[in-house]
Amino acid sequence: MPDLFIDGTWRSALDERTREIRCPADGSLVGVVDEAGGKDTVEAIAAARRAFDEGPWPTTPAADRGDLLLRVADLLVRDKEALARAESLDTGKRLVESEYDIDDIANCFRYFGRAATAETGRVVETGTASVDSRVVYEPVGVCALITPWNYPLLQTAWKVAPALAAGNTFVLKPSELTPHTAIHLMRLLEEAGLPPGVANLVLGAGPEAGAPLGDHPDVDLVSFTGGLQTGRRLMAAAAGTVKKVALELGGKNPNIVFADADFETAVDMALTAVFLHSGQVCSSGARLLVEDSLHDRFVDEVVRRASEIRLGGPFDERAQSGPLVSAAHRAKVEAYVAKGLAEGAVLRCGGARPPGPEFEAGFYYPPTVLDECSSDMSVVQDESFGPVLTVERFSGEAEAVRLANDTIYGLAGAVFTTDEAKAQRVAARLRLGTVWINDYHPYVPQAEWGGFKQSGFGRELGPAGLAEYREAKHIWRNTNPSPQGWFA
Ligand code: NAD
Repeated sequence: MPDLFIDGTWRSALDERTREIRCPADGSLVGVVDEAGGKDTVEAIAAARRAFDEGPWPTTPAADRGDLLLRVADLLVRDKEALARAESLDTGKRLVESEYDIDDIANCFRYFGRAATAETGRVVETGTASVDSRVVYEPVGVCALITPWNYPLLQTAWKVAPALAAGNTFVLKPSELTPHTAIHLMRLLEEAGLPPGVANLVLGAGPEAGAPLGDHPDVDLVSFTGGLQTGRRLMAAAAGTVKKVALELGGKNPNIVFADADFETAVDMALTAVFLHSGQVCSSGARLLVEDSLHDRFVDEVVRRASEIRLGGPFDERAQSGPLVSAAHRAKVEAYVAKGLAEGAVLRCGGARPPGPEFEAGFYYPPTVLDECSSDMSVVQDESFGPVLTVERFSGEAEAVRLANDTIYGLAGAVFTTDEAKAQRVAARLRLGTVWINDYHPYVPQAEWGGFKQSGFGRELGPAGLAEYREAKHIWRNTNPSPQGWFA
């Protein structure tokens, strides 16, 4: 069956190109999918434009749009095992993590299904009896939704669900490395009864299949999650037609551990912060800042436990972490570590591909700790997006805040301390979109997600996430019109 979904029809790419998808854990063939080029994407944009301009979706009652999203949530739960398996095969991530993701994805659809009707407009008091005045929310239009490979369906859900709740039509372009769950989601949207042309899917490489989404005049909004360089490029491309742009970019997220932190919890969470999904998490706590007096004991324990993390494929139940997504990405992480060592970082564990025949065909890289780093090093400033932890020392609250804020990024981070007042003071001064206190990584769809500084702008999830996909229109009605006489 063809894999591009355009105007309610499944079809192949116009030039009939395809791409092999291979599992990062062992190189096995997962599938061969159609590979769109720019012309396919332009057709998908035209379909989304027609579906928006001619309806019925944008004017479908919000309650009905919400009901459709709730039906999709149920279908996601029904297909959880197949979806989780497909996600693991494409990404190499452990099956349990994919299963967890599918639950989150269903919750996201539920949240926006309910939010669709939460606030659909308001009456504005003008103080004039002969005027009624109200603000209504309308969909933005045709949305280009561009997503990365690390949480393929989750990142897609965070865009598709609010875009549909608000009444938009869209063209989705997932990462070329991880297309299968996006294909499955389109089938579920069809099954749930979404009208043709509202949801369109193009698969393929960014510069070909993705590029028209950035500058095409019929696209009204670009919502992008991915790397900083691509985000900058898309923002520039979107400027020509003044599209609305929402960017969820990278992070170099500080995890601050004070000497008075609960030791066991802070060690445990420092490991989860950076090594979950082999560090391929935008909010990964890849920068450990440890108070000087705790440094040696804390880092020794992190290194000891990091060295024991078992690597393995998605269906290896003993594995605690999986491979990196591609050979190219592993090469990038290796170059990053080499640069850190050249800059003077001290390698405490990891730093070389794991030995053993079971790892040969996959793109494995072990948990790696680089100690004695400082914020002038590129390894502290740049995102590796791999299982690499850099460690810096600090002394006191002011220095912790100064170092934590000393990057161009501002996505997320954490503070570990048993001093509640100190935790609150530090959290208030961190220039981050999300701050966890004595925790790392949790999020809920009810709360906004997004970055400060060059981690992007615009919000996903929460009420502001829905607002990204709506325009507020003020309608002023004079109920008793008569000449004003200004130019009589
Ligand atoms: P990427 O920027 O390489 O690619 C992301 C998407 O953009 C892919 O679908 C890609 O094909 C597409 N793309 C690339 N060039 C394009 C172009 N010229 N026009 C249109 N589309 C184009 O990022 P990636 O390697 O897939 O993902 C990793 C990055 O994503 C990391 O930097 C990570 O921090 C970030 N990320 C951020 C968040 C967040 O919530 N802030 C979440 C997940 C990932």
